Amino acid sequence: MADHPVLRYLSPGAWSLIEPLISQRAKGLLTSLVEFLENDVLPSEKLFHAQIPSHPPEARWASIPPVMERLKHRAKGLGLWNLWLSGGDFQGMAGGEGGGLTNLEYAVMAEIMGHSAILAPQATNCSAPDTGNMEVLARYGTPQQKERYLIPLLKGDIRSSFSMTEYGVASSDATNLRNTTALPDDSGNLSVKGHKWWITGAGDPRNVIHIVLAVTDPKNPSPHKRHSLVLVDPRAKGVKIVRPLTVFGYDDAPEGHCEVIYDGVKIDVENGVVGGTAGLGKGFEIIQARLGPGRLHHCMRTIGIANRALDILLQRVSDPNRKTFGKYLKEHGTVVADIAHSRAEIDQARLLVLAAARRVDVAGAKGAMQDIGMAKFTVPSMALKVVDRAMQVHGAEGLSEDTPLAYYYGSLRTLKYADGPDEVHIQQVGKNELKRAEKLKERTEMIKQKSDSLLKEAGKLKAKL
Ligand SMILES: Cc1cc2nc3c(=O)[nH]c(=O)nc-3n(C[C@H](O)[C@H](O)[C@H](O)COP(=O)(O)OP(=O)(O)OC[C@H]3O[C@@H](n4cnc5c(N)ncnc54)[C@H](O)[C@@H]3O)c2cc1C
Repeated sequence: MADHPVLRYLSPGAWSLIEPLISQRAKGLLTSLVEFLENDVLPSEKLFHAQIPSHPPEARWASIPPVMERLKHRAKGLGLWNLWLSGGDFQGMAGGEGGGLTNLEYAVMAEIMGHSAILAPQATNCSAPDTGNMEVLARYGTPQQKERYLIPLLKGDIRSSFSMTEYGVASSDATNLRNTTALPDDSGNLSVKGHKWWITGAGDPRNVIHIVLAVTDPKNPSPHKRHSLVLVDPRAKGVKIVRPLTVFGYDDAPEGHCEVIYDGVKIDVENGVVGGTAGLGKGFEIIQARLGPGRLHHCMRTIGIANRALDILLQRVSDPNRKTFGKYLKEHGTVVADIAHSRAEIDQARLLVLAAARRVDVAGAKGAMQDIGMAKFTVPSMALKVVDRAMQVHGAEGLSEDTPLAYYYGSLRTLKYADGPDEVHIQQVGKNELKRAEKLKERTEMIKQKSDSLLKEAGKLKAKL
């Protein structure tokens, strides 16, 4: 399939490398996805934003743009639904509701979705934080929890939040998290108390479930066994959505990133702790399993965002109305260099992401941690550079809301913190790489001995190198 429509988005080199690993079914879905993006999603972007009211401010959080439901309906009809939900044992856990694709196949699809990063992932039920939350419930939820939350999430009927970061606490070190507790009250139930912030999706009127990381065993000698994940209905007594936060002024309504207080919310262990009694103390184990693939999904979409920024740049610098000093912008050498660097950097980053996705298929998310870590701290920085170049060729307009570039910049900047700051991943990748040093010494010593004996046999005492 040398002329597959995906080649309008992917470099021919990357496609020829992965094509043998992409099934016929996935190729068909990719064709549908490209058509869906071009015919339905991209043309709906302006309408989506126009359907979110500006006034009064609270109206921004009261309803969902109707065009989104229309897009979801269309995507379902095209079979473009839950594509993120990979095959294997996962299908069984999720009742066969997912796309059943490999992570490599999904990586290409997520990149295509990145071209319309607000609409396409939600329209296909592939958006964060729901995907990670569905994964948690599929892997660790009790049958009742799956029935109550996983099935409606898989159908796209409800939305969810993952509530971990604590107000006033350096949350990138998760062992610090202590201000949210779920401890027994007089009635024997658990009472959830805590103060979180930056909780994505907590403003969404469809949100009926927060998966909250809370201390359930404060005296456990292991700091990694003190926490559990508890399920809180945001409509329950004691939940207060304090305010939506903004990123560079963008509030991401109607989903948002909110400050939330849990003030004595009652839950029982069997229904309210992910996995019931068996899930007590398993908070850390589960968040590790959740965050790995989620980080990679962000990277996949980010490649698409960077590509779209480059597409926007190319059109601006070729616009005859935008000549400076007698030339098209594309005729200035610095602009050509920016284009070349952007192309090369996107294509490099894509290979890293595809390799990480393939590694997840072959070795599981745990076996792919090094690859995911490298992608996590490389891809958003790459995309920020590309978006910055695209903003620059737009002059002042590049910083306004007349193009999507400023929004992209803000949301990509977020990815240097979200799911853990880059520094933490850089440190981990560096430490893992250092583990090779001892083996390298052994290999170098073995080569030296052979080299010495070759010199000796040849009667030579010295060599230049
Ligand atoms: C738009 C947005 C959406 C978000 N959505 C969610 C969500 O849905 N749910 C949720 O729970 N959280 C969410 N977050 C929060 C995000 O996950 C946290 O901001 C992140 O984990 C960092 O925690 P912190 O802000 O407490 O920073 P801190 O832990 O205070 O860290 C501050 C800085 O310290 C530095 N640092 C930390 N460790 C090291 C190290 N080892 N070496 C060198 N420097 C280091 C880094 O520069 C880091 O940025 C979101 C954040 C944003 C901006």
